[in-house]
Amino acid sequence: MVTSPDGYVIWASNIKAAMIREADSTYPYETGGILLGRHYPGLLHVTHMIGPGPGARHYKTSFIPDRDWQYEQIDALHHQLSGSLNYLGDWHTHPQGSLSPSETDLDLLEAIAATPESRCPTPIMCILAGTGSGNWSETVIHYGVEQTSTWEGTTN
Ligand SMILES: [Zn+2]
Repeated sequence: MVTSPDGYVIWASNIKAAMIREADSTYPYETGGILLGRHYPGLLHVTHMIGPGPGARHYKTSFIPDRDWQYEQIDALHHQLSGSLNYLGDWHTHPQGSLSPSETDLDLLEAIAATPESRCPTPIMCILAGTGSGNWSETVIHYGVEQTSTWEGTTN
């Protein structure tokens, strides 16, 4: 993983596999979720991923998460881990699309950074672009920090 000094992102080993499973399961429609973990100075450790939820709606170039379900999952994790988790950002897929964030993506990232309640001034957005069956490339945009990483290719 290529990183910039100020934007070091470490992923727990099961996270990317879980995102790819979710991405494959809704392909060719878009999906995504929430990234949680620990926020240290100059370092993000992504330890948990929350999926779209059973009531999510998936479309070709957008999706609407099941927010109630997602908040329940976050609450449960907070209880389980004694509130030590931070919200770190979001992830979503671009089925048959590019790794570049859309205008909407960049607006969302800016809105998260600007919202005090999110307690995440430098959120990350992970985009998986690809054609399903494990064929996904990934980019991570770290708001306020240089781009942190990109990989391309087959993941299985
Ligand atoms: Zn997008």
